[in-house]
Amino acid sequence: MNRPHIVWLRRDLRLADQPALFAAAETGPVIPVYVLDDARAGEHRLGGASRWWLHHSLDALGRALAERGSALVLRRGDSVEELCRLVEETGAVGVHALRHYEPWWREAEVQLAQRVELQLHDGNYLMPPGSVRTGGGQTYRIYTPFGRALRRELPEQAPLPVPALSAPDTWPRSDRLEEWNLLPTKPDWSAGFAADWVPGEAAAHEQLARFVDHADLYHEERNLPSIEGSSRLSPRLQWGELSPAQIWHTLDGQAGEGADTFRSELVWRDFAQNIILTFPEYQTQNYRQAFERFPWRHDEGEIRAWQEGRTGYPIVDAGMRQLWQSGWLHNRVRMIVASFLIKHLLIDWRVGERWFWDTLVDADCGNNSVNWQWVSGTGVDTQLFTRVMAPLTQSDKFDAGDYIRRWVPELAKVPDRLVHDPPEGTYLPKIVGHREGRERALAAYRSLRDDQ
Ligand code: FAD
Repeated sequence: MNRPHIVWLRRDLRLADQPALFAAAETGPVIPVYVLDDARAGEHRLGGASRWWLHHSLDALGRALAERGSALVLRRGDSVEELCRLVEETGAVGVHALRHYEPWWREAEVQLAQRVELQLHDGNYLMPPGSVRTGGGQTYRIYTPFGRALRRELPEQAPLPVPALSAPDTWPRSDRLEEWNLLPTKPDWSAGFAADWVPGEAAAHEQLARFVDHADLYHEERNLPSIEGSSRLSPRLQWGELSPAQIWHTLDGQAGEGADTFRSELVWRDFAQNIILTFPEYQTQNYRQAFERFPWRHDEGEIRAWQEGRTGYPIVDAGMRQLWQSGWLHNRVRMIVASFLIKHLLIDWRVGERWFWDTLVDADCGNNSVNWQWVSGTGVDTQLFTRVMAPLTQSDKFDAGDYIRRWVPELAKVPDRLVHDPPEGTYLPKIVGHREGRERALAAYRSLRDDQ
């Protein structure tokens, strides 16, 4: 009997450039498996928007595998227990998987390796996290030298093709995807998601091809929320429908500031993984310890107003409504809404991190925490806390008029000269004045320093 190998899929839902699948397929029959494991991540279990994406991406992957004479086996429960059970049921030689760096996945990998033959592969990052180090062998804590070193060391390597897949003699039992209830029902808030996104590897490649056509303008257009100037590939990378190597390779030969700035952004993603690998508590703890004593405010009403896009600042409200309705948010606007929560409202960045975790289709342990700690000034390579973004100026500077009119229907007919800061009485009152919020934030920061 030709014993199969199990391929354990997590955030790497693709067939091409999938080193675990490729390696397993070279040795004989493969059984691709996804385990829905809600308990391991604790309070960072998959959020609602992620579950929506996961459902559709698994559905697409299952169909793509079926077209190749294979199948996707779905199991629910503790990953380690389920995989051990599957190895026993199928007589598999062992398990192949890509390495993942969320603390809960690293723990699962260690536990699984103690019980079955586990072969881990790299492939979801440009360079294996932990491999790019300073001359002294340390993790880089500053992005710029990290990026330089990574680009120096990055090997030239063509992405792997989709392997030929052979099926096992018998397939183990699989759950039905619908049984998992990953999609929202009461209420179903996902209509806007379906209008904006088609999850799955095939659609991801189409999206990449569209982006490549205008990548040369990326450096200018990426900051303008009113147009589609960035790639919107973040959920593709987060769910592993595309590998960063495929993207890098597709841009090969594209010189110019656009493609180069884009490559630098991709490197930020690698940087973030290195940070959570070195500091596994990064998602929940201030890197700068002094901030443990920061006098954060807690005001449920203001938190809800921020979440629901009712702060009275059109750019903030447009962003938060875009996030709720489509599961995604433009990077410039992510920075503006995060800064507003942390500084104007003086609310702990972790409240925002958790909201993004639940509402983003690209919610990522590394990218989300590293960026929240960047805006709040609590992180490794970070903006100073005292840099308070002025939402009205940002809105005007980055020409967000059309963006606001799209996401805030009350302002749909308001012209550019008024839309960033509508006259009193014509829009929701501001939850806090800009100057007042800014001064309160700076005073809070001073109190922290005076305390030392
Ligand atoms: P592009 O501009 O086209 O960039 C290409 C890719 O590079 C992105 O898809 C992403 O994978 C990576 N990238 C770009 N900017 C960053 C960055 N600042 N940090 C790390 N990687 C980056 N990104 C996530 O993928 N998941 C998150 O949970 C997340 N949370 C964020 C929270 C805050 C407060 C902020 C300010 C940023 C966050 N980001 C997050 C980073 C960034 O906003 C998104 O990656 C980007 O907006 C996605 O859009 P895009 O694919 O069009 O990006």
